[in-house]
Amino acid sequence: MKLKDAVYGTMLEKNYEKALALKNRYSFINTNILPLLNKEDKDIFLGFQEVCLKLQKQVDLEDVYEMLPKMGEHYMLQRMNSYDGVPGSCKHQILLSLANNGMAPEVDFAATASAILVGNSLYHNPNRNELQEKALKEIYRGTKVGGIGITEVEHGSDAVNMKMKATMQDDGSVTYNGVKVYTTNGAVADYFSTYGVTDISNPRRTMMLTMFERGDVGLKTERLHIPAGRGVGIAKVTYDNVNAPAERILAAPGLGYRRLFSGLTPERIAIISGSLAGLWHSVAHGAIFTQIRHQFGKSLFKYQGISHVLDDLYSKTAAYTAFALQVADFYDKKVGEKIHRGEKPNPTDEGSAAIMAAQGKYLTAKLSHHAAYEIVQMCGGRGAIDEPGSNNAINRGENISRLMEVVGGHRNVQLMIVEAGIKAGTAMAISGNIQKAKRNERKVQKEILELYMGRADKLLIDDAAFLSEATKIELTHILSKLRAAIESKDKIEQAAYSKALPKALSGAGKEVYKAKKA
Ligand SMILES: Cc1cc2nc3c(=O)[nH]c(=O)nc-3n(C[C@H](O)[C@H](O)[C@H](O)COP(=O)(O)OP(=O)(O)OC[C@H]3O[C@@H](n4cnc5c(N)ncnc54)[C@H](O)[C@@H]3O)c2cc1C
Repeated sequence: MKLKDAVYGTMLEKNYEKALALKNRYSFINTNILPLLNKEDKDIFLGFQEVCLKLQKQVDLEDVYEMLPKMGEHYMLQRMNSYDGVPGSCKHQILLSLANNGMAPEVDFAATASAILVGNSLYHNPNRNELQEKALKEIYRGTKVGGIGITEVEHGSDAVNMKMKATMQDDGSVTYNGVKVYTTNGAVADYFSTYGVTDISNPRRTMMLTMFERGDVGLKTERLHIPAGRGVGIAKVTYDNVNAPAERILAAPGLGYRRLFSGLTPERIAIISGSLAGLWHSVAHGAIFTQIRHQFGKSLFKYQGISHVLDDLYSKTAAYTAFALQVADFYDKKVGEKIHRGEKPNPTDEGSAAIMAAQGKYLTAKLSHHAAYEIVQMCGGRGAIDEPGSNNAINRGENISRLMEVVGGHRNVQLMIVEAGIKAGTAMAISGNIQKAKRNERKVQKEILELYMGRADKLLIDDAAFLSEATKIELTHILSKLRAAIESKDKIEQAAYSKALPKALSGAGKEVYKAKKA
């Protein structure tokens, strides 16, 4: 018998299926979220849910893209940016993800990559020409799909040092050569918003952003095997002398770097929205399933080993929601609204928003995976089952949740931004103290170095007979290099030889000890 010939069966019971229905999960989430909303936002949120409940059965888990135009009809691919008279805000984006993720987390993932990541790359250009406006409209309506090209094979976390070579032509067009990887939607995308640099030795000052189209000569897409992103076409995109006319340049050389960073903050807020939505739907699965499932004569919920895990996740999810709404509110008021009006936000506000977005992305992405894993375990074997058309979507939620930490800048990159926040937040108050502490430390290190040098001089005189020629040459060389570096104030040489001296001295000490013992 070959595995491929095995017949699939189903086992998920009707009562679980009915209890886990999307409307019941929404009901639990609404109990928690609606009290936080004003009347208008409540109506918007309930409207999103109504559409998702209608569309839910039409989702094809092997190909999510059929859903995009259907959601686009209701302007439900993004709600971060105001467009076509439909108001947008980060808060609305959170509400949209809460609805979409419940319908299908895979669709939410693809929609966010197209309408937020690529959509923002067009929307943030206040001087969009007709062609760019058309692309934006098509992406928002879901009739066309976008993929953003930042990451390269050798440049993931340090994307700022990207090597995609952009060459400006005399007619104002640009030609790209290089490879982007992990482009979400890239396997099927119509538009590719891609970063490149005109000088690979100076990426920060020469970065640019250009829109390419499927069908451009030399542009090749290949889907990557990413099981957690089921139904989503994540791709490697090769640019082999691909030329784009001037009207497709979204940010000229030198302006790309700023655009990259101003785009990453709302991208991370959108990832917070997706992670938060994943969190709420995981907790909803747990809250429902554990009250239905009985073992040893009681519902699982009655066992504190189960309910306390759920209580902990529920509490953290509520706390993270409050923080996410605060980040959203800050971004909307200080940055987003200015971008909507075509104005330039204040750089200090942009900095604060970037730090908050990094904190929120770090926390929610991490917890969303942890929570999904815990709830999968709470569901026992049923947590491992993913039957076609089932309302039990926790396994799918867990799959998508494992992508949330890596996309939009991995965990440690978020923490680096948070770290910059710590430094910036303390600089004004304690910069004098920091300098003093550094001076003191330098003084202590200087004294220590002098002691090491003294010991080395003494060893070379007193114990010369016990040292090998090679060791004498090494110690003498280090000492002379160090003295020359101190004299010439060459900090790099000083640091290198200060580090080498204790090691060489320790080796020499051992040599003397062995020789004396012998
Ligand atoms: C499903 C999926 C979808 C994606 N979608 C897109 C997309 O649409 N467009 C796009 O451009 N990119 C996309 N990406 C790429 C994603 O942004 C990168 O994978 C991510 O930035 C990490 O880069 P990397 O994979 O090269 O890992 P690396 O940079 O090699 O990182 C590996 C590990 O090292 C850590 N690390 C790296 N540098 C440091 C440091 N200085 N200090 C401490 N730790 C460090 C990281 O935190 C991580 O744990 C996607 C990725 C995935 C998996």
